[in-house]
Amino acid sequence: TSFSSLPLKPALLASVEALGYADMTPVQAQSLPPMLAGRDVIAQAQTGSGKTAAFGLGLLQAVDVDTIRLQALVLCPTRELADQVSKAIRRLAANIPNVKLLTLCGGMPLGPQLASLTHDPHIVVGTPGRVQEHLKRQSLHGGGIKVLVLDEADRMLDMGFTDAIDDIIGRIAKHHQTLLFSATYPEEIRAVSQRVQTDPVEVTV
Ligand code: AMP
Repeated sequence: TSFSSLPLKPALLASVEALGYADMTPVQAQSLPPMLAGRDVIAQAQTGSGKTAAFGLGLLQAVDVDTIRLQALVLCPTRELADQVSKAIRRLAANIPNVKLLTLCGGMPLGPQLASLTHDPHIVVGTPGRVQEHLKRQSLHGGGIKVLVLDEADRMLDMGFTDAIDDIIGRIAKHHQTLLFSATYPEEIRAVSQRVQTDPVEVTV
């Protein structure tokens, strides 16, 4: 199936075309329709499945660049993954003028991050500990978040980020869409999904 069957903004369809994506991958075909309808989604998807473009398009569709607030937050287990995800989202956002995306990861100095946070970005991609710290300091404001993405959720739990993720969710807008991606579906992931999602659509590819 082609992306043009989806109710995506023209700017996003143009990016998909420029990237040369002819057809949706299975995880995209199954997760994008419910995502664009505003549903929570839990998807079992490996690296290489096209999961980044799936949630990237989902969150970019929800972001309104004319509203200067943080609207989408992507949590990743590592800085390397956060950098990759940021790059992929930037490519998908290439035709959306003025979209502001920041990457906020631990192990990086706080000063430059604080300096770049004088105005909230539309999108943040980061690791849980550092994002939690910015929300606590109120250098970042989560009250306008519409979409929360937990990428490689199983790895984040393995790395001990469960408490940070729960704390972050307690500091952001009550009503938001949660997109959870995980390579594996252990009991802990089901428990997190039950805790943080509402009637999620399950996608397995
Ligand atoms: P990911 O699983 O998100 O790490 O993506 C794996 C690779 O697939 C990336 O290099 C993407 O650019 C590419 N990709 C994502 N969606 C599509 C698509 N619909 N058609 C072709 N390539 C894609």
